[in-house]
Amino acid sequence: MTRTKLSAASRYGPRYGSTLKKKIKDIEETQRKKQVCPQCNRRSLKRKEYGIWKCTKCRAKIAGGAYTPRTPDGLEAKRIVKREEKAQEKAEELQQETENE
Ligand SMILES: [Zn+2]
Repeated sequence: MTRTKLSAASRYGPRYGSTLKKKIKDIEETQRKKQVCPQCNRRSLKRKEYGIWKCTKCRAKIAGGAYTPRTPDGLEAKRIVKREEKAQEKAEELQQETENE
């Protein structure tokens, strides 16, 4: 039964096709479900508005994806920032070492 399978997306009736409606269902479910807060690690992160997520426990307000708190691109950006920070630290250490000599 498509009606039960698509649940919330069944409001579109026979329109748009089942593939699109399944995608919508997945997106809407993650958007409504509470997600794990990166600050306190509790499942209390709620979508506030487009790209803004707020933790109901520690009140952290974070910028994330439009419908999920973390996006693959966001994680990649985080990795790049971390790598650059490490490279920066290493460069500073090297500089200090040469200054001490
Ligand atoms: Zn939190």
